[in-house]
Amino acid sequence: MTSTTTGTTATALPTPAVPGSLLLLGRGRDLASERGVECPGDLPAPSDPDLVARAQRARAELGDRAFVLGHHYQRDEVIAFADVTGDSFTLARDAAARPEAEYVVFCGVHFMAESADMLTGPEQAVVLPDLSAGCSMADMAAITQVEDAWRVLQDAGVAERTVPVTYMNSSAAIKAFTGRHGGTVCTSSNAEQALRWAFEQVGGVEAEGPTSGKVLFLPDQHLGRNTAVLALGLSLDDCVVFDPWRPGGGLTREQLERARMILWRGHCSVHGRFSAEAVDAYRERVPGINVLVHPECRHEVVTRADVVGSTELIIRTIERAEPGSSWVVGTELNLVKRLAAAHPDKDVHFLDRDVCYCSTMNRIDLPHLVWALESLAAGRVVNRVVVDEETARWAKVGLDRMLALPGPTARD
Ligand code: SF4
Repeated sequence: MTSTTTGTTATALPTPAVPGSLLLLGRGRDLASERGVECPGDLPAPSDPDLVARAQRARAELGDRAFVLGHHYQRDEVIAFADVTGDSFTLARDAAARPEAEYVVFCGVHFMAESADMLTGPEQAVVLPDLSAGCSMADMAAITQVEDAWRVLQDAGVAERTVPVTYMNSSAAIKAFTGRHGGTVCTSSNAEQALRWAFEQVGGVEAEGPTSGKVLFLPDQHLGRNTAVLALGLSLDDCVVFDPWRPGGGLTREQLERARMILWRGHCSVHGRFSAEAVDAYRERVPGINVLVHPECRHEVVTRADVVGSTELIIRTIERAEPGSSWVVGTELNLVKRLAAAHPDKDVHFLDRDVCYCSTMNRIDLPHLVWALESLAAGRVVNRVVVDEETARWAKVGLDRMLALPGPTARD
């Protein structure tokens, strides 16, 4: 997979493959090695019985100088040290609301730390405890691939009536691409408003015929398709999938001309696992069960669900559910386990048959958190994520367009 490297820098790394990059594969230049298994400095052993005490000590020493953010999909051992928990957008906003914190320790994935860096002051350091904590979905759209795709659309004569829209779960470089090309960013809560706004820029969603406007939706094909079909009333035939690994995206000029939604061939490796068969099996096994899924799930899963919504909506739905009601939830397992434990009066199940954590979210574990906190307490800023000024400037254009959208402002 091509690495997305434009736009960010990181410090105190062991010879990254590309200076300043997210560690996509391997250690240093050795792409065949396993990534993320080493940290510069002394990464404590997972078996160290003092890990919790060490984290508590370092956290106390840092006091208000540090602010620790924990995404809902993080492990319990990490969430225990989070000052706030939330989805990617709310955490970025929380980080922005703490200008007095010297260090923002982001327990989440790389694109989230980038967003936090863009929304915090230049004197604040955003730290990702393990730089290999990327997001497989965000990694599926590299800026070089997206720029190549745009050239394909230009050659086909459709770029000038195409508006790019990217999901929050994308690199700062991709967000900047949307800013530069008249597009916007969206979350799973405001994808409908973002798509309506984008179509309005090119003649409206109702327009038909060979000159009708289009949206290039990045990087999650499922969120794009689900929103276009279920919220905007487009048909599945209006959607085509652009495969960055095939010449011309694997599409003919006629297909590009006819399409209304050009969906990037990306998906979430967690939400993409849930299947229609698993939904049907649960309905058969537990009569009356409610199916609650994230819109990053495949179309055939979403169309079988009772409730579809963002991580925050999933949490609210379970909190407000009737005692004794049964729910099967299609989202990351750490969150589903916590929801089940917090609501013993409700019957909460996980939709996948197999254990399925987000492997990159889980890169952040207690040893990495202890290492990051102790390093900061000792005055060493490690694993800092910095988005360069030019990228941040254009990414903010896309983010500001999103914030100006009517309706819900944002949730991942
Ligand atoms: S759950 Fe999916 S979208 Fe979220 S960080 Fe993991 S791979 Fe990315």
